[in-house]
Amino acid sequence: YKRIVLNSRPVGDIEPTTFRTETLTLDLKPGEREVLVQVTWLSLDPAMRGYIRDVRSYLPPVQIGEVMRAQGLGVVIQAGRGSAHNVGQLVSGAFGWTEFVVMKDKNVEKVTVTKGVEAIDFLNTLGTSGLTAYFGLRDVCQVKPGEKMLVSGAAGSVGSVACQLGKRAGATVYAIAGSQEKCAWLEKELGVDKAFNYKSPSFRQDLKEAGYIDVYFDNVGGDILDTVLMRLNKGARIALCGAISQYNAVKPKGLQNYLTLISQRAKLQGFIILDYTAEFPAAIAEMSRGLADGSLKRKFHIVQGLEQAPVALPMLFSGGNTGKLVVKVSDE
Ligand code: NDP
Repeated sequence: YKRIVLNSRPVGDIEPTTFRTETLTLDLKPGEREVLVQVTWLSLDPAMRGYIRDVRSYLPPVQIGEVMRAQGLGVVIQAGRGSAHNVGQLVSGAFGWTEFVVMKDKNVEKVTVTKGVEAIDFLNTLGTSGLTAYFGLRDVCQVKPGEKMLVSGAAGSVGSVACQLGKRAGATVYAIAGSQEKCAWLEKELGVDKAFNYKSPSFRQDLKEAGYIDVYFDNVGGDILDTVLMRLNKGARIALCGAISQYNAVKPKGLQNYLTLISQRAKLQGFIILDYTAEFPAAIAEMSRGLADGSLKRKFHIVQGLEQAPVALPMLFSGGNTGKLVVKVSDE
């Protein structure tokens, strides 16, 4: 079977030599309270750029020679002694970039696919991405009906859920994305009130059409965040969800316009989804209903085969994906 390990730490962008594929004999055996999982789907996430950087963060860095960290879905194909899982059970976990993996029972979650929901929704709306939008909006943005909310990275996985939950909360939702096609999708399919293309030369001027903003859900950081800092309403909340524009930078860019936080009595707050795990089941149930009744929409960008993971990962940084980027590793 194949697995992909970290080969070298990139200085800037991810390079062809950053990862290395290994081929091993499939002689994995689950021990006591362990399971052998055949991986079906893997999630590709901007955070992976952080995992391969040797700095202090919310998770330890992936070491050279270690299998690349990744959330995935898979099927239990062998259960060890005393395992709580049965063969054939669909599970999720941090399987990593591999086709097969032995996992401890406590590190895998049973996945129950309800009507109107697909297994891969658990890597998107019902997984880390969707839950990040859900709790970021609820706790950090505290968005209220009638407020103006702006979302960057809006056509991506987290952003597209944030936009829809903003509408659901009764806000007027403005979006920022990197192409006309993405902006059209956001307005026509997701019901965003107005989407702005940040690659347009008139972006800064265009954004003024939104007026001053009460809530900013930021996925990108950098220059876009700095521009938005000049567009804050009094008492604005900014949720620092991510800063993808800075993840490949050797030294992240500083902010020029942060003094408006003082004049506008605004709040800038980071958050990490891992702090909300206890509340996941209720949020998953709520969003499953939204998927089933069609009120929550989703899109996937699927790449085929584990060996495509390192090739596809940089797509997150060039904007090649609309919706959630996932790798199909094997059939369910
Ligand atoms: P996306 O599906 O949104 O993919 C990334 C998107 O970012 C790209 O499609 C691209 O779209 C956009 N982008 C890339 N480079 C830039 C740039 N320089 N400037 C502006 N936009 C850029 O990824 P996710 O939904 O998985 O993640 C979105 C954000 O959420 C990330 O910052 C991630 O780190 C963060 N996150 C945070 C979590 C937390 O717990 N705080 C948990 C999960 C994710 P475009 O064409 O519009 O440029």
